[in-house]
Amino acid sequence: MPTPAGKSTRAERLAQPLAREVAEQAAADHGVCIRPVSLRRTDTATGATEVIDVPCGSKLESRCPACAKRERSLRRTQREEGWHLAEEPAVQPDPPSEEQRDWAEQRAMVTAERDRLASTGAASAEDLARLDAVIADLDEEITASGLRGSVTRSADTSSSGSRRVRSTKRRQDVPAFPSGR
Ligand SMILES: [Zn+2]
Repeated sequence: MPTPAGKSTRAERLAQPLAREVAEQAAADHGVCIRPVSLRRTDTATGATEVIDVPCGSKLESRCPACAKRERSLRRTQREEGWHLAEEPAVQPDPPSEEQRDWAEQRAMVTAERDRLASTGAASAEDLARLDAVIADLDEEITASGLRGSVTRSADTSSSGSRRVRSTKRRQDVPAFPSGR
């Protein structure tokens, strides 16, 4: 009921659904994303940019009924069609960098020399231990340069007490887990 000043009462204003809620409901009713994400797309050839709305892709009904529903039906279809991976997806590692190749090469050379000396008995235990220490240092450099996987030989490591095992190495072979929005 209008007040003498011509303004609507607080009760009346509260009774009016928020325009945003109405818009969201209408979008949801029509199976349209209610929280589209605006992305700026740039044409790399012309430099022209345009803003496009893409569905939010939420899996949560409370967040976006349309996207959650679409997600569910997609999953159902995939299940019905028997979509599944028969094998683990192969993640291709990055090719080694120049630096990594250098370290790995040096390590291979030192290791070959150490093994040669060890097999011929031409080196003292002290010499071998020194070479082992060098190899361990090279291992560290290789690890530090980001090459993943262990280059440490499984056999013949007992002669060296200087090898350190790194347990905090970051897994680089794990793809980013898709974030559930
Ligand atoms: Zn959505």
